[in-house]
Amino acid sequence: AKTSGRDAARVFDVSIDLAIRERQSLEQHLRLALERGEFCLHYQPQVDAQNQQVVGVEALLRWHSAELGEVSPTRFIPVAEECGLIQPIGRWVMNEAFRQKAAWEALGLDALDLSINLSAAQLADPELVGLVQHCIERHGCDPTRMVLEITESHLMADPVAASEKLLAIKALGLQLSIDDFGTGYSSLAYLKRFPIDELKIDQSFVQSMLDDEADLAIVRSIIALGHALGLRLVGEGVEHQQQAIQLKALGCDELQGYYFSRPLSARALEQHVFQEPKK
Ligand code: C2E
Ligand code: CA
Ligand code: CA
Ligand code: CA
Repeated sequence: AKTSGRDAARVFDVSIDLAIRERQSLEQHLRLALERGEFCLHYQPQVDAQNQQVVGVEALLRWHSAELGEVSPTRFIPVAEECGLIQPIGRWVMNEAFRQKAAWEALGLDALDLSINLSAAQLADPELVGLVQHCIERHGCDPTRMVLEITESHLMADPVAASEKLLAIKALGLQLSIDDFGTGYSSLAYLKRFPIDELKIDQSFVQSMLDDEADLAIVRSIIALGHALGLRLVGEGVEHQQQAIQLKALGCDELQGYYFSRPLSARALEQHVFQEPKK
């Protein structure tokens, strides 16, 4: 028993070692990714629940590493946050999203919101407001059509500091959205005081609400709460028609998910989504 315990410990050591080396390798490649131009943004449509017209898109970061291939943001964003790379990467995302929005406006696609994800470190960055202002001036797009998404847990980590930041961003004209709503611990007092426009119902609730009465009750409550506070509700992770029908019946304003479209490159979006004749 003693030997097998030691063997188990060695296996454990080896797997930790492997995880550490994988992490280091990821970090090394991530350091080069910006200058090598390996990032791009994909965009996932958000539709009006009533008529299924595309009313907005969410920018989602994609990394195609020369050595590692396609790496999911769920893997590299946490690493970027830990090693401080999220700041330059976040600046790139912000600039690229504003540039793309201005390009779409020039094509006449101006009735379209564009959402950008912000990490906790970006929210804490004293230069965030300056960066947003810089992007508005540089690209000249309509700031009221830009939406910043912040996860509920990041926002509630330091609500007093966050509140000031949000007010400054709001003063520049942008919209604010709380992402993954329902998974963190929102203080309702802050929810009322934050200058937010939108709540995004976390996809875990959307995906189980048809099989689980409790999740359905949570979705119904989030929608009621959001509407009582004058907020727009977005249902995320809609994969099936029944989920879309249910969310619409519950009064959800906008829907997003694979059922409508996967995240697409700007070009694919222009060719397949924006060109579609109105139904
Ligand atoms: P998120 O902001 O909650 O984004 C939604 C995620 O769900 C995206 O994954 C999207 O592709 C995926 N998704 C959309 N519809 C469906 C669906 O119907 N079913 C399922 N199963 N998934 C769906 P993605 O692109 O892998 O991004 C993962 C997370 O990485 C994002 O979660 C966000 O937290 C983070 N992220 C992505 N881009 C950025 C960025 O530019 N900056 C920062 N700070 N974080 C980002
Ligand atoms: Ca929207
Ligand atoms: Ca998001
Ligand atoms: Ca989300």
